[in-house]
This record gives sequence, C-alpha cells and structure tokens, in this order.
Amino acid sequence: MEINPYDVAKAQIEIVAKEMGLDKNTTQYLKRIERALIVSIPITMDDGSVQIFEGYRVHHSTVRGPGKGGIRYSPEVNLDEVKALATWMTWKSSLLNLPLGGAKGGVRVDPRKLSMKELERLTRRYTAEIINIIGPDIDIPAPDVNTNSQIMAWIMDVYSMQKGRSIPGVVTGKPIEIGGSVGREPATGMGLYFVLKALCGKLDLSLKEQSIVIQGFGNVGGTISELLYNEGCKILAVSDISTGIFCKDGLDIEKLLKWVKEGKYLKDYKDSSYNFLTNEELLTTKCDVLVPAAIENQITEKNADKIQCKIVLEGANGPTTPEADKILYSKGIHVVPDILANSGGVCVSYFEYIQDIHSYFWKLDRINQELERIILEAFEETYKISVERKIPLRTAAYIIAVSRVAKAIELRGFFP
Ligand code: GLU
Repeated sequence: MEINPYDVAKAQIEIVAKEMGLDKNTTQYLKRIERALIVSIPITMDDGSVQIFEGYRVHHSTVRGPGKGGIRYSPEVNLDEVKALATWMTWKSSLLNLPLGGAKGGVRVDPRKLSMKELERLTRRYTAEIINIIGPDIDIPAPDVNTNSQIMAWIMDVYSMQKGRSIPGVVTGKPIEIGGSVGREPATGMGLYFVLKALCGKLDLSLKEQSIVIQGFGNVGGTISELLYNEGCKILAVSDISTGIFCKDGLDIEKLLKWVKEGKYLKDYKDSSYNFLTNEELLTTKCDVLVPAAIENQITEKNADKIQCKIVLEGANGPTTPEADKILYSKGIHVVPDILANSGGVCVSYFEYIQDIHSYFWKLDRINQELERIILEAFEETYKISVERKIPLRTAAYIIAVSRVAKAIELRGFFP
C-alpha cells in the first residue's frame, strides 16, 4: 500500500506532542493546514492541442511569518503530498528560527515531456492562478524537485507584471541577474555538509574516512557528492531516476557530474569497473553515511532493517517513515532529520529574500558564514536535547521547531 506523506507528517506531530506534553488544541491545529488552493492550468501545447494540468499551493502555517517553500513539478504530486511538504517547511523554518512559516506548491506534470515554451506557459499560468496567495509578505515560493532558477524567473515576471513593478522578493532561487543570491544553488548541499561534519565531530569520526552512498543526483545529491568527494570521502554509489551505479573503490564523481549535466542518464554511463544497482540495492549497500536525496518514503518498515550504515543524512524531505525511524534508532543508526539536514536551502532563500527587500547584495563569504552559523546553532541545540533526553535527533529537532510555533500560537491566540 502507498504511504501517504501527510499521514507521516501528522504522525510525527503526534510523536512530538506526546514527548512535549503539547496542549491538545494546538496539536490538533498543527495537524491541519491553514489553506490550500487547487487550480486548473489549461495549456495550449506546441501542436495546438490543449492539456489541462492540476496545480496546488498550500500554506501550513504563517503564524511566525510569511509562508515559505518550494514548488515541485512531478507526475505523482497530489494535494496530500503538498500538505505534508508544507508542514515540514514550517518545522524547517522554525528550527532555524527564521521569521517564516511553511508552504509548498506543486503541479502534476512530467516536465520532461514538455518543450521549453510549454514549460514557460505552464509556469506563467500556474503563477497567475495562485497570485492572490503569494507575495513577499504572504508566501514566497522557491525551487524544489524538477524546478529551477529559470522557472523562478518566470514566476517573478508574472507577479511583477501584474503588480506593475519589479518585485524580486516574491520568490527565491532566482537567477543572480534578477535578484537571486550567490550561494543559493549549492546551499542545500552545503548545509548537509556542515551538519555531517559537525555530527562526525560529536561521534569522533573523521569525515574524510567515511564511505558514502547517495540516492538522487540532482541539485542536492550532486552538490553533496561533490563536496564529500573533494573532502576525500569514498563515494561508493549514487543514483538518478534511471539507475544506481556502484564502485567498491569509489566513483569518479567529477566525471559522473559532467555526464548528468550534459542531460544524460547514469544508465548510459560506461565504465567496466562500475556496476549498476536497483534502488533497493543502493539503499541497503553497506556504507558509513547514507544520503537519501530524492523523494519521500524511501526508507520504510520494509527495508529499514536491511539498512547498513552509521548515519542517515536526509537530503530529501520525508525520506524515512516513522516506523522505519524506530527500526533505525533501535539499530543505533543516527538519522539526521530532513528539517535540519536539508535546511541550508531555505536558509539561503531567506538571505535572498532579505537581500531583495533591502536591494543590497552580499558576497559569497558572508552567505556561507551565516549559513554555517545558523545551521550549526540548530544542530548544536538539537544534538544537546537528543543526548540529554535520550531521544532521536528527529524528535529533538521537532521539540525545538514545534515549541516555537506553539509559543507563537499561544501569544497570538485563536482569532477572534
Ligand atoms: N524546496 C526547498 C526545501 O524543501 C527550499 C525551499 C525554499 O527555499 O523556500 O527546503
């Protein structure tokens, strides 16, 4: 049976509510979303036919600030998935103590089947449909699975055209030329790297001696594999949508990245010392650090027992189910939760947003220093609670994140 990510998100709230003794009304409220918009997106295709796509934008919480979260384009996207992703964004922003809430969007489409012009029309119409619930003070979208800086540029353009002036702060992850931030593209991978390094420090492990397996070779998987490869780590296996690829002596990440950047699939890569792996084989490969950096529900009660690593570093959102969490914890595996591990992206998105509002742009050094400071503060706090209370890192991170949101709800009260 398919696992519903929104059920997972709600189960995670229940776990932490119990651990914290959270008030019943607040718990019930947090398990719901503030608002959701479902839109139809009719597009004239290049051949003259019309196709209608479905899109969503969900605000889980704006109690601590405007909604924040990416937009994904995928044939599997549905409302419950977007609700879960929006909920996770609330915790992520709160854990970093950013003055932002949680939101997410998606369009049910396989963008690989669209031409560039069709993709542009789809993005522009989707933006027009959600225009009333986005904006720098309302909700600020960003890239996610299968969306990128060009798509953000089109969103910014539609919004600005409607408002009659340039409003770069409506969306983050834009091209640098129109108000994007240096360091935003690799930010999620950088954050993963800072957190892994800090955890290795706590566990007395030398980072460069760790062997690594990475599921997903897009922006997040690609960046972290490159950073760890340059650190000297052996990258045993990576995967894209077509296959996993393995080498016991370590893969040549530079060559593989060049290959995928040319738009090619890993399954077509030829090297006689490399073997191909299925997704299940990849996830259960013996290694020190497993980085799921693709989509939700990859480590479940079905395969958790077979996972053979010391650390799971969640590059994706929601890759591990609560049942799998229990199994991994009982095996002594440290799971660095998504809301901490992959929060570098939203952190630098926040920097982009303030740079846009102030019309003053920072240098890369400042971006990376502030990112490191903020993410390590969240890591230290999380790690401390996890050790003191003898609880998993995820529960510790949720205690911090949920407490801040609950406090804001308490202070503001339930309107009216
Ligand atoms: N899509 C990214 C995430 O899931 C980034 C969100 C953002 O920058 O707003 O964290």
